Amino acid sequence: MRRAILEWFDADARSLAFRGSTDPWAILVSEAMAQQTQAARAAEAWTRFLAAFPTAAALAEASPADVLRAWRGLGYNRRALALRAAAIAIVADHGGRVPGDLDALQRLPGVGPYTGRAVAALAFGRRVGAVDTNVRRVLNRAVGGQPDAFTPGELQAVADASVPAERPGVWTHALMDLGATLCRPRAPRCGVCPARPWCRAAQRGTTERPRATRTNGSGTVRAVPEPAAPFVTTSRWLRGRILEVLRDAEAGAWARIETPFGAHDAPAVEVAIRSLARDGLLERHAEDPNLARLPLV
Ligand code: SF4
Repeated sequence: MRRAILEWFDADARSLAFRGSTDPWAILVSEAMAQQTQAARAAEAWTRFLAAFPTAAALAEASPADVLRAWRGLGYNRRALALRAAAIAIVADHGGRVPGDLDALQRLPGVGPYTGRAVAALAFGRRVGAVDTNVRRVLNRAVGGQPDAFTPGELQAVADASVPAERPGVWTHALMDLGATLCRPRAPRCGVCPARPWCRAAQRGTTERPRATRTNGSGTVRAVPEPAAPFVTTSRWLRGRILEVLRDAEAGAWARIETPFGAHDAPAVEVAIRSLARDGLLERHAEDPNLARLPLV
């Protein structure tokens, strides 16, 4: 199965800007970006970000405001500050070079088991399996025979054991691509999947979780999910838009956060500003609470 997946990847790999890189810093940046952001969008931002911060030392010297500006379009902005903190630690503790040891990687701020393992495999050729949501789905189905076959600890052990001695970084990308393009959450494309002949879930017809149901007086009916709130009414939208206002302001200048802001009234805006300040994503003016800017230090 491993050989078939690697052959499929060699022939069909998605072409993403960061795929060709062997620079550990560039790989760490790409993995920090790829968490919670679509790979294609992250790849675009990656080129721009590395042009501004080609080394850990360059990022370590930058202000939070500069880093947040360069992070534009990626969302989940706390990751930008965590990456800057990691860069500062790389300079302080590792002479400016990304460490190759898994424990040292995982001690960097914002680097968890997934990112640490991905960098160890991709940049340093270590035989460790990085488990993201795509890899989790592929291994649960193909090896475990159903979507939630393994506990997190078991899954990590399966992922580590799956890594070949040759090309561990390529294997990491191959599994992620398989999950993203063929082994999708719904309606996996088993008919064209290279893992099909060995995949336990495909053989048993157990690729999908049984649908949640509820019962009423007249019998069992399919559960109807609550309709999601429109995105513009969410606090996540509001936080993101406030940061956009600050990014658009001149460097160092204060910008006014108007209220109401879209569908959000003044108390909701106040909550969002406070939470952004608490996360270190903005600095508030001491005298005028609706003036803010990206943090300079
Ligand atoms: S055969 Fe189907 S379920 Fe199995 S890994 Fe491929 S796409 Fe996923």
